[in-house]
Amino acid sequence: MSSLPKIKAIVLDWDDTITNKDTISLVAEAAYLTKPEFPQPWSHFSEVYYSNYKLYTSNWGERTTFKDELEFQKGLKQVELSSVNEYVGLQLFKDISTKSLEDQSSKVEIKPNFFQIFQKLYDNKIPIILLSCNWTSIIMDKIFKDHGFEQHEHFKIITNEFEVEQGILTGQVLENVSIRTGADKVEHVHKILQDLRKLGINDGVYYIGDSSTDVLPMLETDYGIVIGDGSATKTLQRLNINYDEGIKGDSKIKHIKNWNELNELV
Ligand SMILES: [Mg+2]
Repeated sequence: MSSLPKIKAIVLDWDDTITNKDTISLVAEAAYLTKPEFPQPWSHFSEVYYSNYKLYTSNWGERTTFKDELEFQKGLKQVELSSVNEYVGLQLFKDISTKSLEDQSSKVEIKPNFFQIFQKLYDNKIPIILLSCNWTSIIMDKIFKDHGFEQHEHFKIITNEFEVEQGILTGQVLENVSIRTGADKVEHVHKILQDLRKLGINDGVYYIGDSSTDVLPMLETDYGIVIGDGSATKTLQRLNINYDEGIKGDSKIKHIKNWNELNELV
């Protein structure tokens, strides 16, 4: 039985890791609250996504190796972009205000004990990088601000962003950051690790997430934490990667149920 070192830096997923539920539908809802007459319902965009997803996955057999999974995640980018291109093309988010997205933050449920752990990391100036495949940082940024946490050099949110002009979305997305798949997250984790090395942090880097998108990036950091019962545990089993239940044990990957299990690491 070995125990984990204290967290020196951490990369966090957002949806279903910090939140209780996926929040993309709340992003979309902001558009429909502003434009209730928009011709295509939300189901149109999910159908485009799922039909492309089904088509893509039907070309894949069982993925049992890291290499297979990385190739699969890379190819998934086209599927993810198909729904992005659909909402950009149909201008779903055109003329939506950033304020209407911020207002959605009151509907987001945060997992128990998250902010207690976050507070300690933040107060101790531990580098925290929130790395998400969500469509915007607006809702998350508002939630952190409401809890008294501003982004600064030790706390950054990296995700996809809408183009905004004077508080109003143009309907386009910014091209400079594109985080749509687990392969994209791997790439960003490599950059993050380089930046951390410049700060003299060479170990004690953690990654925490819930889904299959998080499995590859968490293998790149010193320790990976899977929270809850999302698709990450199934992916780990499929790829034959050992993990411990709880934070004790020899595996570098841990499965926890609640944020308070990280208490002794902060
Ligand atoms: Mg997630």
